Amino acid sequence: MKPVIGVTPDFNAGDREDMGGREPTYFLRARYPRAIEDLGGVPLILPLTADPALQRQLVKGLDGLLLTGSGPDLPPSLYGERRRYRFRVMSHQRYEFELGMARLAAESGLPVLGICGGLQAINVALGGSLIQDISSEVPSALPHRPSGPATRLSHPVQVAPRSLLRRIVRQAKIRVNSSHHQSVKQLAPSLVASAVAPDGIIEAIESPHQPFFLGVQWHPEFLYDRDEVHRRLFQAFLKAARDAS
Ligand code: MN
Repeated sequence: MKPVIGVTPDFNAGDREDMGGREPTYFLRARYPRAIEDLGGVPLILPLTADPALQRQLVKGLDGLLLTGSGPDLPPSLYGERRRYRFRVMSHQRYEFELGMARLAAESGLPVLGICGGLQAINVALGGSLIQDISSEVPSALPHRPSGPATRLSHPVQVAPRSLLRRIVRQAKIRVNSSHHQSVKQLAPSLVASAVAPDGIIEAIESPHQPFFLGVQWHPEFLYDRDEVHRRLFQAFLKAARDAS
């Protein structure tokens, strides 16, 4: 049996001009479920429920959880900060679901891969905080949201020795694409950084207490079909999900 991977969608609560307009609407870039399907899993797009009992049942029924990226940011109140800038904030339906599922997955050992905003959700769910805007708060940082295609490898990251990520990519340094304006500030107490950009921005986080609990700040879903290093991220995640099922 192929492992069943829950994939979180984005949500328009009915207050946007695009993506369904005034009708509450789920949406998701198709390349997330396609990556899971192409590499041997069964993607299952999840409903954004805030009910803890439903979340627990979903976690029990899944073999892995993919927390996807997002345009809007997590509200800074979730990590005890006031909102300093005017970036769009995620719907509560989405973050209540993603943070709840991330905590339940951490408790139960369910394999998790967080991508971009998914990494940020993992860190905040487990008690960490975020840099609200890299270019405002870290003026010396590299451009982490450069223009150009999302498939472009725009900066290197140093991969921590003896980390899960290092075992997956088997290289001390890899090049990644980059399309984010936030990143980890304070790491959650139970997590460690497993990749860092040359400017010090944290680019991957993981739990040393779980077989597979990993967040990457870049977008392997744009790279898995053309770059073996990034394909291995999904393959390792799917193997962990298979082993856990
Ligand atoms: Mn970056």
